[in-house]
Amino acid sequence: MAIHSIGVIGAGTMGNGIAHVFARSGFEVVLCDVEQRFLDRGLQTIAKNLDREVAKNKITDADKSATVGRITAVLDRAKLADCHLVIEAATEKFAIKAEIFRDLDRIMKPDVILATNTSSISITKIGALTGRADKVIGMHFFNPVPVMKLVEVIRGLATSQGTFEAVRDLAMKLEKTPVEVNDAPGFVSNRVLMPLLNEAMYTVMEGVATPQAVDEVFNLGMAHPMGPLTLADFIGLDVCLDIMRVLQDGLGDPKYRPCPLLIKMVDAGWLGRKSGRGFYTYS
Ligand code: NAD
Repeated sequence: MAIHSIGVIGAGTMGNGIAHVFARSGFEVVLCDVEQRFLDRGLQTIAKNLDREVAKNKITDADKSATVGRITAVLDRAKLADCHLVIEAATEKFAIKAEIFRDLDRIMKPDVILATNTSSISITKIGALTGRADKVIGMHFFNPVPVMKLVEVIRGLATSQGTFEAVRDLAMKLEKTPVEVNDAPGFVSNRVLMPLLNEAMYTVMEGVATPQAVDEVFNLGMAHPMGPLTLADFIGLDVCLDIMRVLQDGLGDPKYRPCPLLIKMVDAGWLGRKSGRGFYTYS
């Protein structure tokens, strides 16, 4: 089936970015969330980010209007029924994704691919909830989606070659670079990145260095554009904790245990940039 219209579930940080890049590349997008205020916030973010692209002369005002015009925001998931592919970018909780995938399997036509933007949950496990595990795949974008070039394309155990090729080609149509990965806890990106961030948190907890000093080591010594603690605040400390728990449970090695300081900060509601306080404070 030719893919022209995309359903996106979740209008948060990633969902609105995914809707943005598909609509900017000419796809019709149906964006779905559970409350109108989340849809409104997502649409506002898309408009603001498109304005930035206009200001940088990457697109014209007319491109912006056409992009916005290709996005329909809905609360009723059944309105995705005519889409040619769906990408789920809802909250990183297995129970939430399980409910969504069971329902999508019922709503969507049998040949429609169901992709997930999960950072760490097993694609194989999500696929097994549906009657079309061969059409379930990971399409893992990076934040901020309109800027970052990488898409990790993750094959579950049952994902077919046809599904993989369709999603790989779709990523290229968005002018992204797809990288093929097999299903495993954290895939490649978070399997390698999260233990680095977690270890940086241990150095702060143990008084080895301040967050600023740790970040400076990585900025200046390793040419990382963002130090690990700035990056953890940017990703969200709750998201980092959820991913560490997936690595710990899935790989069963104590080296993946979440840093106690991370757990304490999440308990305190210090979630990083989005809550105004993490390893740094934000106004
Ligand atoms: P977010 O909290 O910003 O947004 C999640 C959105 O999903 C919210 O608007 C919420 O209302 C909505 N939602 C929750 N349940 C829903 C449901 N049943 N139906 C429809 N919408 C629902 O989260 P995010 O950072 O955008 O993350 C979304 C997904 O992308 C997660 O799986 C996350 O692991 C993954 N991811 C995040 C990042 C990142 O840097 N934030 C990067 C790559 C992947």
